[in-house]
Amino acid sequence: MSRFISKRIQEMSVYVPGEQPQGGNFIKLNTNENPYPPSPMVTAALREMPADKPKLYPDPSCMALKRAIAEFYKLDAKEVFVGNGSDEVLSSAFRAFFDEGDKVYFADITYGFYKVYSSLYGLQATEIPLATDFHIELSDYMGLDGHMLIANPNAPTGLYHTRQEMEAVIQANPDRLVIIDEAYIDFGGESCIPLIRKYDNLLVVQTFSKSRALAGMRLGFGIGSPALVEALEKVKFSMNPYNINQMTMAAGIASMQDRGYFEETTRKIVATRERFSAELQARGFTVLPSRTNFVFAKSQTLSGRELYEYLKDRKILVRHFDVPRISEYLRISIGTDQEMDALLAALPQE
Ligand code: PMP
Repeated sequence: MSRFISKRIQEMSVYVPGEQPQGGNFIKLNTNENPYPPSPMVTAALREMPADKPKLYPDPSCMALKRAIAEFYKLDAKEVFVGNGSDEVLSSAFRAFFDEGDKVYFADITYGFYKVYSSLYGLQATEIPLATDFHIELSDYMGLDGHMLIANPNAPTGLYHTRQEMEAVIQANPDRLVIIDEAYIDFGGESCIPLIRKYDNLLVVQTFSKSRALAGMRLGFGIGSPALVEALEKVKFSMNPYNINQMTMAAGIASMQDRGYFEETTRKIVATRERFSAELQARGFTVLPSRTNFVFAKSQTLSGRELYEYLKDRKILVRHFDVPRISEYLRISIGTDQEMDALLAALPQE
């Protein structure tokens, strides 16, 4: 190890992304990507980009993109922050709103980056255990003495709380920031975006990576009061003012403009999820009720590790988390009907 490495980085446990095999012809159901291509309007926007556009820096205010997002959600562009993936939005929020030593709360089983950012920024993080059936016990989040992050629907469980239930948490913590990570909200959930004008302690974070099939472009957004957005902009202009590149900007705008394609593809994924969940249950699996583009499921006969290996040997990649409480489960992204049928056909008899 280099003698120049900072103490904090020396001690960090980093986020481990799902495998991205380069070649090998896998059916890839391990990182919750969309099985369908982005909107044809995105493809057209990328194709029509003037050849000399990349020589210029992108618009650091990202105004056209913010306007497209604002139009989709009936917001003001001042209520929109855009980042290089929602990971960057989350990281910027940690920077903008939490000081070293601050307390933050999140579930013991949730998106791994909350813990990673907490140690990167020197926060005092407390993990609140999920209930035994894996739902987030929202009563544990009432009147906390620190800020909080809640993924809704949660990952990797896929379980969801209604907007009304989330509103009770926001209301019960008026002097704490409540960050709601809605990476998977478009697959059957009700977003908390309409609450941002009512609560100045709410930041909603979403992504183009899942329901908009743009994981490779890296684009996410945060929605909150103009004051919260201003603070996020301050972080961005202290670190990386050109965080959204020209291609991503064009892709994001076109994606937001094609509501019909977005609705059609998310509807297809939800239908595939419901059919696949029922098929797994018929084969004896325990399947949590998902409101996302993945299912969290457990075999009756094989351990999580064994089934992961078994499927990988058959060129099907799913996600296994070798951590307490969930090591018997697999997180399986929803692909096309054909891909899910191939997985079902490959399963051993239960
Ligand atoms: N939040 C959750 C809950 C996620 O599962 C992911 C995807 N790994 C992200 C945020 C980050 O997604 P992205 O950076 O691709 O927008």
